[in-house]
Amino acid sequence: MNSTEIKALDAQNVMQTYGRFDVAIERGEGAKLYSPEGKEYIDFSSGLGVNSIGYGNKKWVDAITAQAMKVQHLSNLYYSEPYARLASELTKRTGMKNVFFSNAGGEANEGMIKLARKYSFDKYGKNRSTIISLVQSFHGRTITTLAATGQDVFHNYFFPFTEGFKHVAANDITALKAELTMDVCAVMIELIQGEGGVIPLCPDYVKAVAELCAAKDVLLLIDEVQTGIGRTGSLFAFQQFGISPDVVSFAKGIAGGLPMGGIMANEKCSTVLVPGTHATTFGGNPISAAGALEVLNQLDDAALAEVTKKGAYIAETIKSWNKPTVGEIRGKGLMIGLSMKNASPKDVASACVQNGLLILTAGSDALRMLPPLTITYEELGKGLEILKEHL
Ligand SMILES: *Cc1c(COP(=O)(O)O)cnc(C)c1O
Repeated sequence: MNSTEIKALDAQNVMQTYGRFDVAIERGEGAKLYSPEGKEYIDFSSGLGVNSIGYGNKKWVDAITAQAMKVQHLSNLYYSEPYARLASELTKRTGMKNVFFSNAGGEANEGMIKLARKYSFDKYGKNRSTIISLVQSFHGRTITTLAATGQDVFHNYFFPFTEGFKHVAANDITALKAELTMDVCAVMIELIQGEGGVIPLCPDYVKAVAELCAAKDVLLLIDEVQTGIGRTGSLFAFQQFGISPDVVSFAKGIAGGLPMGGIMANEKCSTVLVPGTHATTFGGNPISAAGALEVLNQLDDAALAEVTKKGAYIAETIKSWNKPTVGEIRGKGLMIGLSMKNASPKDVASACVQNGLLILTAGSDALRMLPPLTITYEELGKGLEILKEHL
């Protein structure tokens, strides 16, 4: 099928919930994608931070193929090696105690919220179930994670939303203190707000939040759905903030493009969810787990150091252009936001996409880059040249 035929099929048969760019993709190689007509795109989006080790990654393809030949799915009534090994890798590399696997980020956050409420219920009884999240956060599209999301545009149409969420301004410890009332069981944060505009939290603020939570036995929940799996230059972003979270959620980049998410709990929270309290049919899928094991295998210390270097290279290159439309360059590693001055990020992104660079927007003012972590300097250079022309 050519691009026109694909678009027509979509228009006729698919719910029109997405504002898609005028692009159809057939295949990829490295950090490049190709349309059915063979048009090349440099990918600074990774399918929204998902394709962490790029396209056509031989070892990853081999790993998931080999697993597909063995067994593609098992219910969680049985044990199997891929998810067990993956959980062991994750705990070993993070210091967390154990893992629950789900399928996506919103679902992972649902599990994190359930764990927090049950922890508090078990210890303190009812009426201690409020969760504080931050203004401008994003936590998912389910009714509950929409309620957790601190952006009013998401709180429409679908009433009634789940009760028990309060939002406070990010980087304002006084505001948080004022809301930390007796009914609060957890504080839930992204360390760099992704969808909200690539807005990093101040390390001092994050430390103060962690201390406040610890003092009150309020759980610290970190949503690493976007920041996790090497995106910011460490396996998880919290490892750069000098904190020990109670629960961490992940998804997007974990399995290199296959659906997978999950949560990791520390010792204190490791036995809260017991048989019958939480489950999901596809959780810990063997093929996704095999893909994830290969992703973690490739994201060793050297590869993570490269992520930091490439991020710095992008920032320095953009600064050197002295473009009047470029404001702040925000983020960490290969999670980069570029605030725009007197230019619409949507228009710039559309122009880039038309000319062969897949780039994202975030919040109201920023362009966002989430390239595959394995992108080469040559691919980066090519993509940056296209960006430069359209800023
Ligand atoms: C993408 C995202 C989610 C939602 O993940 P889905 O896989 O789309 O359900 C939640 N939290 C953050 C921080 C995200 O970036």
